[in-house]
Amino acid sequence: MISRPLNFLLSILLIAVPFTFTALNSSAQQKAQLRTIIVDAGHGGKATGAKGTYSYEKDICLDIALKLGKKLETEFPDLKILYTRTTDAYTDNRWRADFANSNKGDLFISIHVNAAPKIRHRKFAGYRTQTYYTGKGSKRKKHTRKVPRYTVYYTDNPSMGTETYIWAADRADEKEEFIGADVNSPEVELDSTEYAPDITDPEFKAKALLWTKRYFDKSYMLASFVEESFIGEGRFSRGVKQRNEKGIWVLQATAMPSVLVETGFITYKKDEDYLNSEAGQNAVADNVLAAVKKYKQVTEGK
Ligand SMILES: [Zn+2]
Repeated sequence: MISRPLNFLLSILLIAVPFTFTALNSSAQQKAQLRTIIVDAGHGGKATGAKGTYSYEKDICLDIALKLGKKLETEFPDLKILYTRTTDAYTDNRWRADFANSNKGDLFISIHVNAAPKIRHRKFAGYRTQTYYTGKGSKRKKHTRKVPRYTVYYTDNPSMGTETYIWAADRADEKEEFIGADVNSPEVELDSTEYAPDITDPEFKAKALLWTKRYFDKSYMLASFVEESFIGEGRFSRGVKQRNEKGIWVLQATAMPSVLVETGFITYKKDEDYLNSEAGQNAVADNVLAAVKKYKQVTEGK
């Protein structure tokens, strides 16, 4: 998952925008041979990710990532499929990116599960008597008045469905909005994918920006195919979204087209059940596989 207010503020719904992949000209296509795909299961070990009613994000990520990897291996026996983790092990986000880069990945696919905080409600619960004083010294007088009383309760967040993230170029104005967002609210569970230790390092920033520009079109194309695939499956798609501010380390730090797939909401019962089922996990893996197949066809010009 990634935190909600940020999604709301900064995500741009892109899937509805007509898009032609003009940037993928023929010379780029010749060099676009897909050789190595990095499959990244989000979180792991002590980093549980989001919590549902009965399951953890990290376990769903691993199950789906392993199924996806198997399907990719079967579909593309000539491709190298590498995993950032194959067990319930804590995996540092910086390491994930380094692993992908040092293995010269041509595609980075990160599998995650979304979560939305419960919704807070305030209900009128009658009046209570409040005591207050006026005046000073001997003129001090005690008064009472009735003030409304509220009880607070929470209900499940109705957010559901899939969304796929790509990293977008740095923009200072949105960065400021991010800083203003109430990320410290206890209702907002922050994700370990959010923060990178030395994101302000100028050298890294320059590299990340370059990579973003270089791989944006391809990342966007794959992300669009993934969401189209989910729609074809009958899932509710929230679209392709991009993050512009301090954000998803694994997307920003990988020197290759990369996407982060939020496969559903663990906080939404139907999604949680689906993502914990064999059928649901296989469907998600098949959907991503279909997107990769399409991506391969387009980028390799076949
Ligand atoms: Zn996550």
